[in-house]
Amino acid sequence: MQLLSRGDTGPAVAEVRAALEELKLLEPADAALSVFDPALFDSALEDAVRAFQQNRGLITDGIVGSATYRALRDARWSLGDRMLCLQTTNMMTGDDVFALQERLLELGYDSGRADGAFGRQTEQALRSFQRDYGMAPDGMCGPRTLRHLGYLGRKVTGGRPGLLREQERLHRAGPRLTGKRIVIDPGHGGDTPGVRVGDVTEADLVSDIARRLEGRMAAAGMEALLSHGPQDCPSDAERAGFANTAGADVVLSLHVDANASTAANGLSAFHFGTGTGATSTVGEALAGYIHRELLARTRMLDCGVHPRPWELLRLTRMPAVRVEIGYLTNDSDRAALLDPAFRDVVAEGILVAVKRLYLLGQNDKPTGTFTFSDILQREEGSPIGA
Ligand SMILES: [Zn+2]
Repeated sequence: MQLLSRGDTGPAVAEVRAALEELKLLEPADAALSVFDPALFDSALEDAVRAFQQNRGLITDGIVGSATYRALRDARWSLGDRMLCLQTTNMMTGDDVFALQERLLELGYDSGRADGAFGRQTEQALRSFQRDYGMAPDGMCGPRTLRHLGYLGRKVTGGRPGLLREQERLHRAGPRLTGKRIVIDPGHGGDTPGVRVGDVTEADLVSDIARRLEGRMAAAGMEALLSHGPQDCPSDAERAGFANTAGADVVLSLHVDANASTAANGLSAFHFGTGTGATSTVGEALAGYIHRELLARTRMLDCGVHPRPWELLRLTRMPAVRVEIGYLTNDSDRAALLDPAFRDVVAEGILVAVKRLYLLGQNDKPTGTFTFSDILQREEGSPIGA
């Protein structure tokens, strides 16, 4: 193409001017000024071209040659402006392709170097993404694929697509509890009763809370499964295997803590996470809801929500949360746990937290005030947030 530089005139110059104005690199000129000619390559336009070139890593000469012209054309596209796909004869290029490539890379799909050109490798990465998220793997980036790309949080990066699938499933699951399958995992049982203080055992307490929770979940139309009977204590890997085989939507593991110091007390919740990289964001959200609901409904001390790579949390293919409901070795926590009314409050709080998870945060009830009967009413009536 013909090079454009200061002093040139013509429609090509006007086109370059329009592109730079759109990119906000050039003030739109006042067309009312009689001296102004949009088709003239003036010094203001030259400055804008230099700024653009510098921005794009091009030779900053203020002259529009083929590289600058191509870059200007590419810069006009932003993701969502047009359908993107592999074209063998005339490869699609643009900032939208660049954004797509960056997004795929960020999600752990190898689309090659982000170069703004939709080549074969970008197509393959896109197809893998579509397959993983239950779309037709057609390699075309249209509104549906974009929606899926936008749904996903930016927190989980570096090749843990399983964790991203959790989010995808959550968004598709809908707000109702009816039909959701929950595995309730009493932390102990059988030969391994867990913490024991006097004749009170962790196993007895958590299996009692598990049964209260199971009853409420069943009443709300959920399918609640216990990971094991009171006489058994499978390993964490076996519990995770049970949940995976059952195809559970969520796993809730119930424990009570102990400490050498009788002063230690309070509530903590755990979700999968390495602490440095991958985190189950859905698990984290659910752990947070449970934690907040239980703190609001009880007088337990806030011992935080923490990421842990523990087997039950790691090997489950769905969001899993472990709660440590107080310390049996602490007098006031133990007194609370021994009160059946307290265990009812805990069961209700956990159920509400699960409901909140499926409402995706769209809830008008403040933490601690949403009740079991509210839930039953809403399950029967029109779902909110649907
Ligand atoms: Zn335990």
